[in-house]
Amino acid sequence: MNQQADVIIIGGGIHGASLAYHLTRMGVRPFILERHFTASGATGRSSGLVRMHYDLEPESRLAWASFAYFRNWADVVGGDCGFTRTGFLQFVEPAYSDQLRANVAMHQQIGIPSLLITPDDVARLAPSFVTDDFEVAAYEPESGYADPSATVTSFLAAARQSGATLVQECEVTAVLSTDSRVTGVRTSKGDFHAPIVVNAAGPWARRVGEMVGLDVPVDTWRHDTLFIRRPTAVGPSHPTVIDMANSMYFRPETGGLTLVGLEDNNPIGLSPDGDAEHAAPDFVDRAVDRICRRIPQMEEGSLHSAHSGFDGITPDQRAILGAAGPEGFYLACGFSGTGFKIGPAVGACMAELIVNGRAQTVDITPFSLDRFSSGQLLKGDHAYANVWH
Ligand SMILES: Cc1cc2nc3c(=O)[nH]c(=O)nc-3n(C[C@H](O)[C@H](O)[C@H](O)COP(=O)(O)OP(=O)(O)OC[C@H]3O[C@@H](n4cnc5c(N)ncnc54)[C@H](O)[C@@H]3O)c2cc1C
Repeated sequence: MNQQADVIIIGGGIHGASLAYHLTRMGVRPFILERHFTASGATGRSSGLVRMHYDLEPESRLAWASFAYFRNWADVVGGDCGFTRTGFLQFVEPAYSDQLRANVAMHQQIGIPSLLITPDDVARLAPSFVTDDFEVAAYEPESGYADPSATVTSFLAAARQSGATLVQECEVTAVLSTDSRVTGVRTSKGDFHAPIVVNAAGPWARRVGEMVGLDVPVDTWRHDTLFIRRPTAVGPSHPTVIDMANSMYFRPETGGLTLVGLEDNNPIGLSPDGDAEHAAPDFVDRAVDRICRRIPQMEEGSLHSAHSGFDGITPDQRAILGAAGPEGFYLACGFSGTGFKIGPAVGACMAELIVNGRAQTVDITPFSLDRFSSGQLLKGDHAYANVWH
């Protein structure tokens, strides 16, 4: 195998795959080195919510630019990303109603189809929902969810057709450099050479950062999810929801299932190689209790399955994007439990940064690593409490 590349990407999750795809659109031939198989990390465990509602404008812009891919996937990328439009609702406690209004106004200025609706409107959209604990909701009629593994597969298929090389079962063990400039990587399959190396290693990003002596503040975040078989009383489907009032999100899944995740009690700092097959012992009870608060008929549902996953999380729960450390070394990591939906635009931005020196799709300078040393952590103008607590 020719082990000389233009760019080496460490990690075959959504961010490695999207970056590879976008580099090939610009005539660059990347190698994607993946220690297991594609989407074996956070991406393969992702709940796949696709919505634009954030309280930080640059994140909404990344999600909106990404949405152009999700809704036209076959024409833009080819293949299938499994995007399913369900409509998206954001509920917040009454204390955050003003923030919600301001954030929807910010989304509308960007051009995102988002509107404020009343509890009565919600009851018409989703008759099984309890609607007496919020004053106003945000509604994105176009949003929904996608299939993260299928998204990676089609990004990589398109990238490989245009000159990208994927090497699986290939663990990067060291980053090679001379005179403060990266020259390649050492792996379980030998050395690979390139003047540019990108750390897209998800919850393992801190370890990869250490390979160049860089302290990348990416901890691990463990997150459980479960699937419930919906009772017929709930109806054939329902919108996708972030329900901050109940510290929960949920969405429909094919086969009459509903996926539920919780925003609280997601342990930080465990090994990213830990058990992701089993949810924590008390998770099922807590999640069933929460979903039944919002949809009482779920009492008649039955548990289908539960599992866990790890993502990388940063101190302000926002990604780290940009050049850092030795010349030629880049970071696309720390996606903090919400990074799937912004994958397409982040890959476009990182490719533009690497090839042209600046991202044009969205300004990603706010996500630079040095915000942590300068104490300029990211916070929305109309911030909610941290999503994960
Ligand atoms: C349970 C769960 C639910 C989520 N739900 C949502 C959601 O609904 N919506 C949303 O937008 N986001 C969601 N997220 C977050 C989102 O899935 C992640 O932010 C995103 O998938 C991160 O992608 P990534 O490419 O950075 O990392 P990963 O998918 O983890 O990819 C990194 C890859 O790097 C590889 N790797 C690591 N070290 C090395 C090495 N040394 N050598 C070679 N390869 C290496 C790993 O094997 C891995 O495959 C969720 C995350 C989890 C865990």
